[in-house]
Amino acid sequence: MMALELPPGVVAAMTARRRAYIWAGDEKTNDAACMVAWDKVTTQKHCGGLGVRNIRMQNQCLLLKLLHRLHTATNSSWASWAREHADIPMMSGALEGEHWTMLRELLPMYQNLTVVNIATEDLTKLEVALSQIVLTTDPDTRHGPLIGANNELKTTSIYKLLVTNTPCPYADFVWRNSTPPKVQFFIWLLSQDRIKSRANLHTKKIVEDTTCELCGQRAEDSDHLIFRCATARALWAGLGIDTQNAHVDRLWELQRPSTIPTQHFESFIHLCCWQV
Ligand SMILES: [Zn+2]
Repeated sequence: MMALELPPGVVAAMTARRRAYIWAGDEKTNDAACMVAWDKVTTQKHCGGLGVRNIRMQNQCLLLKLLHRLHTATNSSWASWAREHADIPMMSGALEGEHWTMLRELLPMYQNLTVVNIATEDLTKLEVALSQIVLTTDPDTRHGPLIGANNELKTTSIYKLLVTNTPCPYADFVWRNSTPPKVQFFIWLLSQDRIKSRANLHTKKIVEDTTCELCGQRAEDSDHLIFRCATARALWAGLGIDTQNAHVDRLWELQRPSTIPTQHFESFIHLCCWQV
């Protein structure tokens, strides 16, 4: 992914594999097994997603490293060769082929992310025009807030700039705690009402009857399963937690009873939901 732009077919095949792994733990899956849309899965965690990387965007971020190498690297024979055959700042010259076309398309983004210190280019003109400024004959250097001390582009930061960045209300509740990842994943689904309740499975046409298998009295939606069914009600009542107006999409609003310590209360709620 750092050297070539992945063809759309490859991106689609990789995405299908990752999607299948997440929802079925297998190589293949079907739409019915996917409880959350893939766009949401690839949204960052603090924006309500699962934080799985968007491959195409990740590919572009990594390819920016190639451009950075062209503009800065002194020990890359590939970059040296390219500099001999083309005008790198403009990406013009004897650089033909899809690979270079793709790098040219990324050039504006790279230029926006970095700042160039001119040293040798147009040195004479600059010296005349800016006689008060002392210029050196050192090679040009590039810097920017997204270039680290080791001169590497911070592609993780660039990726975060490129993707959706609107915070979501349940992100901290879901991820900022010490519960095991499988429980956090369950709570992530639950907060969006996407667990495999009979009501949700009915919507996906996987089951015909939504009646709760435990009590046989009500439809088994997420709220019923977690808060309203007799077993669940007994658990919450025993803990002294008021769930009369509780809903799975506002789990973080559950009030802590004085008998339960503040520390790890959210983890405690996670584990209760998991156990129900
Ligand atoms: Zn029930």
